[in-house]
Amino acid sequence: MECLFCKIINGEIPSKKVYEDETVYAFYDINPMAPVHVLIVPKQHIASVNDVTAENSAVISHIYEVAAQLAKELGIAESGYRVVTNCGKDAGQTVFHLHFHLLGGQPLKLEMC
Ligand code: 5GP
Ligand code: ZN
Repeated sequence: MECLFCKIINGEIPSKKVYEDETVYAFYDINPMAPVHVLIVPKQHIASVNDVTAENSAVISHIYEVAAQLAKELGIAESGYRVVTNCGKDAGQTVFHLHFHLLGGQPLKLEMC
């Protein structure tokens, strides 16, 4: 498997783990865009939102549960945060293993595009 995030999930490539359970892995982004910048990923290899189906979509709601829990633990639940996923070239997706950026710890830019 040549996927970078699959290698991070299975420990082949080191990461700063924030959270792990049976279906989800979360770790600090190597190039943080905000004081808190965590990536939350399904352990199952799903390339992007384009590949979410009725069969694999349960993990997405679970990822949002994890995001809410981590936001509390990391102290940004009250100040606010953003959960973002980029899909494809125009959105700037660089790693083709579905991931959700959890960003906070400072006022975030309001531009969405
Ligand atoms: P994308 O641009 O695909 O939405 O987000 C990919 C993210 O993965 C980027 O924010 C980038 O900094 C992060 N990233 C890329 N390679 C690594 C790595 O080896 N380790 C960690 N922790 N993050 C990475
Ligand atoms: Zn993968």
